[in-house]
Amino acid sequence: MGPLSYYLSSKDKASRDGIEILRRSANEYFMAMRDRFIDPSNLTQKTCPRSESSAFESQVHPPLQRLPKSRPAATSSVIEDLIERAGGCAVIDGGLATQLENHGGVFDETLWSARCLITEPHLIKQVHLEYLEAGADVLVTSSYQATIPGFLSKGLSIEEGELLLAKSVKLAIEARDQFWELIQTLPNHTYNHALVAASIGSYGAYLADSSEYSGHYGPGVDLEKLKDFHRRRLQVLVEAGPDLLAFETIPNKLEAQALVELLNEESVQIPSWVCFSSVDGEHASSGESFKDCLDILNKSDKVSVVGINCAPPHFVDSLICKFKKLTHKPIAVYPNSGEIWDGKAKRWLPSSCFDDGNFEASVKRWREAGASLIGGCCRTTPSTIQAISKALKGKSGVHYIYENKY
Ligand SMILES: [Zn+2]
Repeated sequence: MGPLSYYLSSKDKASRDGIEILRRSANEYFMAMRDRFIDPSNLTQKTCPRSESSAFESQVHPPLQRLPKSRPAATSSVIEDLIERAGGCAVIDGGLATQLENHGGVFDETLWSARCLITEPHLIKQVHLEYLEAGADVLVTSSYQATIPGFLSKGLSIEEGELLLAKSVKLAIEARDQFWELIQTLPNHTYNHALVAASIGSYGAYLADSSEYSGHYGPGVDLEKLKDFHRRRLQVLVEAGPDLLAFETIPNKLEAQALVELLNEESVQIPSWVCFSSVDGEHASSGESFKDCLDILNKSDKVSVVGINCAPPHFVDSLICKFKKLTHKPIAVYPNSGEIWDGKAKRWLPSSCFDDGNFEASVKRWREAGASLIGGCCRTTPSTIQAISKALKGKSGVHYIYENKY
Protein backbone atom coordinates (compact mmCIF):
# COMPACT_ATOMS: atom_id res chain seq x y z
CA MET A 1 0.00 0.00 0.00
CA GLY A 2 1.67 3.16 -1.10
CA PRO A 3 1.85 5.98 1.38
CA LEU A 4 0.55 8.78 -0.80
CA SER A 5 1.03 11.10 2.12
CA TYR A 6 4.79 10.84 1.73
CA TYR A 7 4.55 11.93 -1.85
CA LEU A 8 2.42 14.94 -1.18
CA SER A 9 3.99 16.07 2.05
CA SER A 10 7.55 14.92 1.75
CA LYS A 11 9.02 18.28 2.66
CA ASP A 12 7.11 18.20 5.91
CA LYS A 13 7.39 14.58 6.82
CA ALA A 14 10.61 13.11 5.47
CA SER A 15 13.62 15.08 6.58
CA ARG A 16 16.92 14.70 4.78
CA ASP A 17 18.49 13.73 8.10
CA GLY A 18 16.04 10.89 8.44
CA ILE A 19 16.79 9.67 4.96
CA GLU A 20 20.52 9.81 5.67
CA ILE A 21 19.99 7.64 8.75
CA LEU A 22 18.16 5.14 6.59
CA ARG A 23 20.93 5.12 4.01
CA ARG A 24 23.53 4.53 6.74
CA SER A 25 21.43 1.72 8.17
CA ALA A 26 21.19 0.16 4.75
CA ASN A 27 24.95 0.27 4.30
CA GLU A 28 25.51 -1.28 7.72
CA TYR A 29 22.98 -3.95 6.88
CA PHE A 30 24.60 -4.81 3.59
CA MET A 31 27.99 -5.05 5.30
CA ALA A 32 26.47 -7.37 7.90
CA MET A 33 24.99 -9.49 5.14
CA ARG A 34 28.39 -9.72 3.49
CA ASP A 35 29.95 -10.89 6.75
CA ARG A 36 27.17 -13.35 7.27
CA PHE A 37 27.12 -14.93 3.86
CA ILE A 38 30.62 -14.62 2.47
CA ASP A 39 33.86 -15.90 3.94
CA PRO A 40 36.23 -13.01 3.27
CA SER A 41 39.15 -15.39 2.78
CA ASN A 42 37.43 -17.11 -0.10
CA LEU A 43 34.57 -15.33 -1.76
CA THR A 44 33.30 -18.51 -3.41
CA GLN A 45 33.01 -20.32 -0.05
CA LYS A 46 29.75 -19.48 1.64
CA THR A 47 28.10 -20.50 4.86
CA CYS A 48 24.40 -20.18 4.12
CA PRO A 49 22.42 -22.41 1.76
CA ARG A 50 20.67 -19.31 0.43
CA SER A 51 23.96 -17.59 -0.18
CA GLU A 52 24.23 -18.65 -3.80
CA SER A 53 22.21 -15.56 -4.41
CA SER A 54 23.66 -13.35 -1.72
CA ALA A 55 23.60 -9.62 -2.00
CA PHE A 56 27.16 -9.59 -3.21
CA GLU A 57 27.04 -12.39 -5.72
CA SER A 58 27.56 -9.95 -8.52
CA GLN A 59 31.04 -9.27 -7.21
CA VAL A 60 32.20 -12.86 -7.60
CA HIS A 61 30.20 -14.21 -10.51
CA PRO A 62 29.85 -13.22 -14.13
CA PRO A 63 26.95 -10.96 -15.11
CA LEU A 64 23.56 -12.57 -15.47
CA GLN A 65 22.52 -14.15 -18.71
CA ARG A 66 19.76 -12.30 -20.46
CA LEU A 67 16.34 -13.58 -19.47
CA PRO A 68 14.57 -15.83 -21.95
CA LYS A 69 11.79 -14.51 -24.09
CA SER A 70 8.17 -14.77 -23.09
CA ARG A 71 7.21 -18.05 -21.48
CA PRO A 72 3.98 -19.21 -19.82
CA ALA A 73 3.73 -18.27 -16.16
CA ALA A 74 4.40 -21.62 -14.50
CA THR A 75 3.62 -20.35 -11.02
CA SER A 76 0.45 -18.46 -11.78
CA SER A 77 -2.14 -21.22 -11.36
CA VAL A 78 -2.93 -20.30 -7.76
CA ILE A 79 -3.98 -16.83 -8.90
CA GLU A 80 -5.82 -18.09 -11.96
CA ASP A 81 -7.71 -20.52 -9.74
CA LEU A 82 -8.69 -17.71 -7.41
CA ILE A 83 -9.87 -15.50 -10.26
CA GLU A 84 -12.00 -18.37 -11.54
CA ARG A 85 -13.41 -19.15 -8.09
CA ALA A 86 -14.27 -15.45 -7.72
CA GLY A 87 -16.28 -15.50 -10.92
CA GLY A 88 -13.75 -13.88 -13.22
CA CYS A 89 -12.52 -11.00 -11.08
CA ALA A 90 -11.08 -11.42 -7.59
CA VAL A 91 -11.20 -8.80 -4.85
CA ILE A 92 -8.03 -7.42 -3.29
CA ASP A 93 -8.27 -5.85 0.15
CA GLY A 94 -8.11 -2.10 0.85
CA GLY A 95 -5.88 0.37 2.65
CA LEU A 96 -4.21 -1.41 5.54
CA ALA A 97 -2.69 1.75 6.99
CA THR A 98 -5.93 3.68 6.61
CA GLN A 99 -7.84 1.12 8.62
CA LEU A 100 -5.05 0.76 11.18
CA GLU A 101 -5.26 4.52 11.70
CA ASN A 102 -9.01 4.23 12.10
CA HIS A 103 -8.31 1.86 14.97
CA GLY A 104 -5.77 4.18 16.56
CA GLY A 105 -2.62 2.62 15.13
CA VAL A 106 0.47 4.77 15.51
CA PHE A 107 2.94 5.12 12.62
CA ASP A 108 6.31 6.73 12.08
CA GLU A 109 8.17 8.06 9.09
CA THR A 110 10.67 5.24 8.74
CA LEU A 111 8.44 2.22 9.03
CA TRP A 112 5.06 3.85 8.40
CA SER A 113 2.30 1.34 9.18
CA ALA A 114 4.87 -1.45 9.64
CA ARG A 115 5.58 0.10 13.03
CA CYS A 116 2.44 -1.71 14.16
CA LEU A 117 4.29 -5.00 13.63
CA ILE A 118 6.33 -4.02 16.69
CA THR A 119 3.77 -2.27 18.81
CA GLU A 120 0.26 -3.34 17.80
CA PRO A 121 0.27 -6.62 15.85
CA HIS A 122 -3.21 -7.45 17.13
CA LEU A 123 -4.53 -4.45 15.18
CA ILE A 124 -2.98 -5.75 11.97
CA LYS A 125 -4.72 -9.09 12.41
CA GLN A 126 -7.98 -7.31 13.22
CA VAL A 127 -7.79 -5.27 10.01
CA HIS A 128 -7.04 -8.40 7.98
CA LEU A 129 -10.14 -10.01 9.46
CA GLU A 130 -12.23 -6.97 8.63
CA TYR A 131 -11.15 -7.08 5.00
CA LEU A 132 -11.90 -10.78 4.78
CA GLU A 133 -15.31 -10.15 6.25
CA ALA A 134 -15.86 -7.42 3.65
CA GLY A 135 -15.20 -9.90 0.87
CA ALA A 136 -11.48 -9.67 0.09
CA ASP A 137 -10.10 -12.66 -1.81
CA VAL A 138 -6.51 -11.46 -1.35
CA LEU A 139 -4.94 -10.12 1.85
CA VAL A 140 -1.88 -7.93 1.34
CA THR A 141 0.49 -8.12 4.31
CA SER A 142 1.77 -5.28 6.49
CA SER A 143 5.29 -5.42 5.07
CA TYR A 144 5.05 -2.64 2.46
CA GLN A 145 7.47 -0.37 4.27
CA ALA A 146 8.94 -3.02 6.56
CA THR A 147 12.62 -3.40 5.76
CA ILE A 148 15.52 -4.79 7.72
CA PRO A 149 17.50 -1.52 7.41
CA GLY A 150 14.41 0.31 8.61
CA PHE A 151 14.16 -1.93 11.66
CA LEU A 152 17.91 -1.52 12.27
CA SER A 153 17.45 2.23 12.34
CA LYS A 154 15.03 1.67 15.22
CA GLY A 155 17.65 -0.22 17.20
CA LEU A 156 16.48 -3.73 16.39
CA SER A 157 18.84 -6.50 15.32
CA ILE A 158 18.88 -8.14 11.90
CA GLU A 159 17.34 -11.26 13.41
CA GLU A 160 14.56 -9.23 15.04
CA GLY A 161 13.89 -7.45 11.77
CA GLU A 162 13.66 -10.73 9.92
CA LEU A 163 11.28 -12.11 12.52
CA LEU A 164 9.05 -9.05 12.09
CA LEU A 165 8.98 -9.53 8.33
CA ALA A 166 7.97 -13.15 8.80
CA LYS A 167 5.42 -12.02 11.36
CA SER A 168 3.68 -9.86 8.77
CA VAL A 169 2.98 -13.00 6.73
CA LYS A 170 2.11 -15.04 9.81
CA LEU A 171 -0.52 -12.52 10.94
CA ALA A 172 -2.24 -12.59 7.56
CA ILE A 173 -2.18 -16.39 7.35
CA GLU A 174 -3.56 -16.65 10.89
CA ALA A 175 -6.37 -14.24 10.02
CA ARG A 176 -7.16 -16.07 6.78
CA ASP A 177 -7.20 -19.49 8.47
CA GLN A 178 -9.23 -18.26 11.43
CA PHE A 179 -11.76 -16.61 9.15
CA TRP A 180 -12.01 -19.64 6.91
CA GLU A 181 -12.58 -22.00 9.82
CA LEU A 182 -15.37 -19.84 11.19
CA ILE A 183 -17.03 -18.96 7.91
CA GLN A 184 -17.43 -22.59 6.99
CA THR A 185 -19.76 -23.00 9.93
CA LEU A 186 -22.19 -20.64 8.20
CA PRO A 187 -24.51 -22.30 5.69
CA ASN A 188 -24.48 -20.97 2.14
CA HIS A 189 -21.66 -18.53 2.68
CA THR A 190 -20.24 -17.07 -0.51
CA TYR A 191 -16.65 -16.40 0.54
CA ASN A 192 -13.56 -17.77 -1.16
CA HIS A 193 -10.52 -19.17 0.58
CA ALA A 194 -8.35 -16.07 0.42
CA LEU A 195 -4.74 -15.83 -0.71
CA VAL A 196 -2.04 -14.06 1.29
CA ALA A 197 0.15 -11.70 -0.75
CA ALA A 198 3.40 -10.59 0.90
CA SER A 199 3.73 -6.87 0.22
CA ILE A 200 7.09 -5.61 -1.03
CA GLY A 201 7.23 -1.85 -1.41
CA SER A 202 9.59 -0.14 -3.79
CA TYR A 203 13.05 1.16 -2.81
CA GLY A 204 11.54 4.63 -2.80
CA ALA A 205 8.98 3.55 -0.21
CA TYR A 206 11.83 2.52 2.06
CA LEU A 207 13.55 5.88 1.59
CA ALA A 208 10.28 7.64 2.47
CA ASP A 209 11.43 10.63 0.45
CA SER A 210 8.61 10.56 -2.14
CA SER A 211 10.80 8.87 -4.75
CA GLU A 212 8.35 5.99 -5.09
CA TYR A 213 6.18 8.57 -6.86
CA SER A 214 8.95 10.04 -8.97
CA GLY A 215 11.15 7.05 -9.69
CA HIS A 216 14.17 9.32 -9.35
CA TYR A 217 16.56 7.27 -7.26
CA GLY A 218 19.65 9.22 -8.21
CA PRO A 219 22.84 8.24 -10.05
CA GLY A 220 24.11 6.04 -7.21
CA VAL A 221 21.29 3.55 -7.50
CA ASP A 222 21.79 0.94 -10.19
CA LEU A 223 20.39 -2.48 -10.96
CA GLU A 224 22.66 -4.33 -8.55
CA LYS A 225 21.95 -1.95 -5.68
CA LEU A 226 18.23 -2.42 -6.13
CA LYS A 227 18.63 -6.20 -6.16
CA ASP A 228 20.82 -6.01 -3.06
CA PHE A 229 18.18 -3.94 -1.33
CA HIS A 230 15.33 -6.31 -2.11
CA ARG A 231 17.07 -9.68 -1.83
CA ARG A 232 17.08 -10.61 1.84
CA ARG A 233 13.59 -9.22 2.49
CA LEU A 234 12.30 -11.27 -0.42
CA GLN A 235 14.03 -14.39 0.93
CA VAL A 236 12.56 -13.93 4.40
CA LEU A 237 9.06 -13.24 3.11
CA VAL A 238 9.09 -16.24 0.76
CA GLU A 239 10.30 -18.49 3.57
CA ALA A 240 7.38 -17.32 5.71
CA GLY A 241 4.99 -19.06 3.33
CA PRO A 242 2.70 -16.54 1.59
CA ASP A 243 0.71 -17.60 -1.46
CA LEU A 244 2.21 -14.88 -3.63
CA LEU A 245 4.38 -11.76 -3.61
CA ALA A 246 2.92 -8.30 -4.20
CA PHE A 247 5.47 -5.78 -5.46
CA GLU A 248 3.75 -2.44 -5.02
CA THR A 249 4.12 1.15 -6.19
CA ILE A 250 7.07 0.37 -8.47
CA PRO A 251 8.01 3.67 -10.10
CA ASN A 252 10.45 2.87 -12.92
CA LYS A 253 11.67 0.23 -15.32
CA LEU A 254 15.04 -0.15 -13.57
CA GLU A 255 13.34 -1.50 -10.46
CA ALA A 256 11.06 -3.69 -12.60
CA GLN A 257 14.18 -5.19 -14.20
CA ALA A 258 15.79 -5.69 -10.80
CA LEU A 259 12.73 -7.55 -9.51
CA VAL A 260 12.52 -9.80 -12.56
CA GLU A 261 16.20 -10.73 -12.26
CA LEU A 262 15.91 -11.24 -8.51
CA LEU A 263 12.92 -13.57 -8.84
CA ASN A 264 14.91 -15.56 -11.35
CA GLU A 265 18.12 -15.65 -9.32
CA GLU A 266 16.24 -16.72 -6.21
CA SER A 267 14.21 -19.34 -8.12
CA VAL A 268 11.07 -18.09 -6.42
CA GLN A 269 8.35 -20.70 -6.86
CA ILE A 270 5.32 -18.68 -5.79
CA PRO A 271 3.65 -16.21 -8.18
CA SER A 272 4.20 -12.47 -8.04
CA TRP A 273 2.35 -9.41 -9.10
CA VAL A 274 4.13 -6.21 -9.96
CA CYS A 275 2.11 -3.01 -9.75
CA PHE A 276 3.13 0.47 -10.78
CA SER A 277 1.74 3.80 -9.75
CA SER A 278 1.21 6.75 -12.06
CA VAL A 279 1.01 10.44 -11.40
CA ASP A 280 -0.17 11.49 -14.86
CA GLY A 281 -2.41 8.60 -15.89
CA GLU A 282 -0.22 7.89 -18.91
CA HIS A 283 3.19 6.80 -17.72
CA ALA A 284 4.95 5.13 -14.84
CA SER A 285 5.77 7.55 -12.05
CA SER A 286 9.27 8.04 -13.50
CA GLY A 287 7.78 9.30 -16.76
CA GLU A 288 8.94 6.15 -18.56
CA SER A 289 6.44 4.44 -20.82
CA PHE A 290 4.42 1.52 -19.56
CA LYS A 291 5.39 -0.27 -22.76
CA ASP A 292 9.03 -0.22 -21.66
CA CYS A 293 8.08 -1.36 -18.16
CA LEU A 294 5.75 -4.14 -19.28
CA ASP A 295 8.14 -5.39 -21.96
CA ILE A 296 10.44 -6.29 -19.06
CA LEU A 297 7.74 -8.05 -17.05
CA ASN A 298 6.26 -9.86 -20.06
CA LYS A 299 9.50 -11.80 -20.48
CA SER A 300 9.32 -13.27 -16.97
CA ASP A 301 7.44 -16.43 -16.04
CA LYS A 302 7.83 -15.41 -12.41
CA VAL A 303 5.53 -12.39 -12.79
CA SER A 304 1.98 -13.66 -13.03
CA VAL A 305 0.04 -10.41 -12.77
CA VAL A 306 0.82 -6.79 -13.62
CA GLY A 307 -1.12 -3.71 -12.66
CA ILE A 308 -1.64 -0.35 -11.06
CA ASN A 309 -1.84 0.56 -7.40
CA CYS A 310 -2.11 3.80 -5.44
CA ALA A 311 -2.98 5.88 -8.49
CA PRO A 312 -6.12 8.04 -8.49
CA PRO A 313 -9.19 6.05 -9.55
CA HIS A 314 -9.98 8.35 -12.45
CA PHE A 315 -6.80 7.06 -14.17
CA VAL A 316 -7.88 3.44 -13.97
CA ASP A 317 -10.13 3.11 -17.04
CA SER A 318 -7.55 4.37 -19.49
CA LEU A 319 -4.69 2.53 -17.81
CA ILE A 320 -6.49 -0.82 -18.03
CA CYS A 321 -7.04 -0.19 -21.74
CA LYS A 322 -3.38 0.72 -22.15
CA PHE A 323 -2.19 -2.37 -20.26
CA LYS A 324 -4.50 -4.65 -22.28
CA LYS A 325 -2.61 -3.60 -25.39
CA LEU A 326 0.77 -4.16 -23.79
CA THR A 327 0.46 -7.50 -21.97
CA HIS A 328 -1.35 -10.83 -21.95
CA LYS A 329 -0.91 -11.22 -18.21
CA PRO A 330 -3.89 -10.72 -15.87
CA ILE A 331 -4.25 -7.11 -14.73
CA ALA A 332 -4.72 -5.94 -11.12
CA VAL A 333 -5.94 -2.48 -10.19
CA TYR A 334 -6.22 -1.14 -6.68
CA PRO A 335 -6.29 2.65 -6.76
CA ASN A 336 -6.34 5.01 -3.84
CA SER A 337 -9.45 7.09 -3.12
CA GLY A 338 -8.24 10.04 -5.19
CA GLU A 339 -7.96 12.22 -2.11
CA ILE A 340 -5.01 14.58 -1.84
CA TRP A 341 -2.90 15.03 1.25
CA ASP A 342 -2.47 18.64 2.31
CA GLY A 343 0.95 18.57 3.92
CA LYS A 344 0.60 22.01 5.51
CA ALA A 345 -2.82 21.47 7.00
CA LYS A 346 -2.00 17.83 7.82
CA ARG A 347 -5.25 16.54 6.47
CA TRP A 348 -6.74 14.81 3.49
CA LEU A 349 -8.59 17.00 1.02
CA PRO A 350 -11.80 15.32 -0.11
CA SER A 351 -11.81 16.91 -3.56
CA SER A 352 -12.08 14.59 -6.56
CA CYS A 353 -12.23 11.56 -4.33
CA PHE A 354 -14.12 8.35 -4.90
CA ASP A 355 -16.55 7.28 -2.23
CA ASP A 356 -17.73 3.70 -1.85
CA GLY A 357 -20.60 4.36 -4.27
CA ASN A 358 -18.18 5.56 -6.94
CA PHE A 359 -16.16 2.37 -6.52
CA GLU A 360 -19.28 0.24 -6.70
CA ALA A 361 -20.31 2.00 -9.90
CA SER A 362 -16.87 1.74 -11.50
CA VAL A 363 -15.62 -1.75 -10.80
CA LYS A 364 -17.91 -3.55 -13.27
CA ARG A 365 -16.61 -1.22 -15.96
CA TRP A 366 -13.04 -1.94 -14.89
CA ARG A 367 -13.71 -5.69 -15.00
CA GLU A 368 -15.23 -5.41 -18.47
CA ALA A 369 -12.26 -3.35 -19.58
CA GLY A 370 -9.98 -6.23 -18.59
CA ALA A 371 -9.12 -6.11 -14.88
CA SER A 372 -8.90 -9.54 -13.21
CA LEU A 373 -8.21 -8.35 -9.67
CA ILE A 374 -9.67 -5.18 -8.17
CA GLY A 375 -9.24 -3.63 -4.72
CA GLY A 376 -8.26 -0.42 -3.00
CA CYS A 377 -5.15 1.34 -1.76
CA CYS A 378 -4.72 4.41 0.46
CA ARG A 379 -7.87 5.86 2.04
CA THR A 380 -10.04 2.90 1.09
CA THR A 381 -11.60 0.89 3.90
CA PRO A 382 -13.48 -2.36 4.48
CA SER A 383 -16.70 -0.62 3.42
CA THR A 384 -15.03 0.17 0.06
CA ILE A 385 -14.07 -3.47 -0.35
CA GLN A 386 -17.55 -4.55 0.60
CA ALA A 387 -18.94 -2.28 -2.14
CA ILE A 388 -16.44 -3.70 -4.66
CA SER A 389 -17.22 -7.27 -3.67
CA LYS A 390 -20.94 -6.67 -3.93
CA ALA A 391 -20.59 -5.12 -7.38
CA LEU A 392 -18.34 -7.87 -8.72
CA LYS A 393 -19.93 -10.92 -7.18
CA GLY A 394 -23.50 -9.83 -6.68
CA LYS A 395 -23.24 -10.55 -3.01
CA SER A 396 -25.25 -8.63 -0.54
CA GLY A 397 -24.78 -10.98 2.37
CA VAL A 398 -21.64 -9.95 4.17
CA HIS A 399 -21.51 -11.86 7.40
CA TYR A 400 -20.50 -9.76 10.38
CA ILE A 401 -19.26 -12.72 12.30
CA TYR A 402 -16.38 -10.86 13.87
CA GLU A 403 -18.27 -7.95 15.33
CA ASN A 404 -17.13 -7.56 18.93
CA LYS A 405 -15.50 -10.97 18.85
CA TYR A 406 -11.85 -10.03 18.69
ZN1 LIG B 1 -1.67 3.57 -1.45
